[in-house]
Amino acid sequence: MVELTSVDIALSHILKHTRETGDEMVSISRSLGRVLAKDIYASEDLPPFPNSSMDGYAVRAADIAQASPNNPIKLKVVMDIPAGHAPERPIKSGEAARIMTGAPMPEGADAVVPVEDTDSDWQKQILTPLPEQVTIYRAVDAGAYVRQIGENVKKGDFVLPKGRKLKPQDIGMLASLGIAKVPVKRQPKVAIISTGDELVDVDEPLSAGKIRNSNSYALAGMVTEAGGEAIVLPKATDTLDAVRKVFQQAIAIKPDIVLSSAGVSVGAADLIRTVIDELGKVDMWRVNLRPGKPLAYGQVGGHMFFGLPGNPVSAMVTFDVFVRPTLLKIQGREDNAVYAIAYTEEAITSDGRRSYLRVKLRRDEQGKLWATTTGTQSSGALMSMVLADGLLIVPEDVKYVAEGSPLQVRLLRMV
Ligand code: AMP
Ligand code: MG
Repeated sequence: MVELTSVDIALSHILKHTRETGDEMVSISRSLGRVLAKDIYASEDLPPFPNSSMDGYAVRAADIAQASPNNPIKLKVVMDIPAGHAPERPIKSGEAARIMTGAPMPEGADAVVPVEDTDSDWQKQILTPLPEQVTIYRAVDAGAYVRQIGENVKKGDFVLPKGRKLKPQDIGMLASLGIAKVPVKRQPKVAIISTGDELVDVDEPLSAGKIRNSNSYALAGMVTEAGGEAIVLPKATDTLDAVRKVFQQAIAIKPDIVLSSAGVSVGAADLIRTVIDELGKVDMWRVNLRPGKPLAYGQVGGHMFFGLPGNPVSAMVTFDVFVRPTLLKIQGREDNAVYAIAYTEEAITSDGRRSYLRVKLRRDEQGKLWATTTGTQSSGALMSMVLADGLLIVPEDVKYVAEGSPLQVRLLRMV
């Protein structure tokens, strides 16, 4: 019997040979989901000036320390400070300035009294002329309703780490700091190849013995989710010429990864293997996992090559286990797979290979996760992936798992 390679050994071998891509500059409006290539530090204070967090009156807190509804205090209103405008002058004791949210605090003022705590009616504030004086009904502490310079971010602060997949709030922060272009990792290009006489494309009619090519589309989606750029090549029939031609097309793209599915099972192995032997170098592995035992790995035309199994679930699971971490490493990212513990609702028999069962998950009142398999676990039954909340992992060398036992689950969605 051929020795099976363990999943962990196969993956660490692959990752050892994986190199990071270079950087490029992109405009922040195109940076969502891209991977930051450098640490970002603040080059200025945010906010850049002290400003009011309320519509109200900028005052000296000491002037109104005794203010209350029973002891209203009147101040002279000396100016209006709309947002976006510098104060015309400082304020002195006994004075106040009408101020809008986000407007700069005038010199001399150290607090803001919200308009609700004054006799001003700002329902129609734009139309309300500046009053000569304002009555204050409430004392506020120094600093009240003032956003201090640098209270959000101080000049020189560490803001975003290299390797971060940029989120909308990150992009907002970059914009706040005046960073219009940002260094990101180049997106790895993945050329996707499907082979098989039985395949027709999604818009072609089915005839006897044919099925639709689904792997090219599902794998392209997985590439995109992992931050790569998917380039789907035309499907190839099961002839040496057709397979050779499509691999040559893939090489011409100069991709980071050439990714094929099918043609690596025992009966079909020779086609892919012959072509890769001609154009590169292949290691054929029988990996100790289910679904997806056969896996080819190597290089073709100097580009990293993965030959995944053809069965749709096997292709997706082996992508998740081997190709996704590789794509993340190319981009300088940590593996972001989320795992949890789930208890199985049913007894499971296994063949001793590491198995990834497609499961639905439910959380009980105690917060424990419970897993039920999503019907048939055939490696061709893509519906088992459609229904899955996670992949329940039965470890190597385990042949029986009793109902109610805890197992690791790789979450495919948050539950
Ligand atoms: P093979 O590895 O070529 O023996 O293929 C294994 C199984 O996967 C067969 O049932 C194929 O029909 C199926 N298969 C191969 N390629 C695809 C594809 N691109 N889309 C959907 N099913 C496929
Ligand atoms: Mg085939």
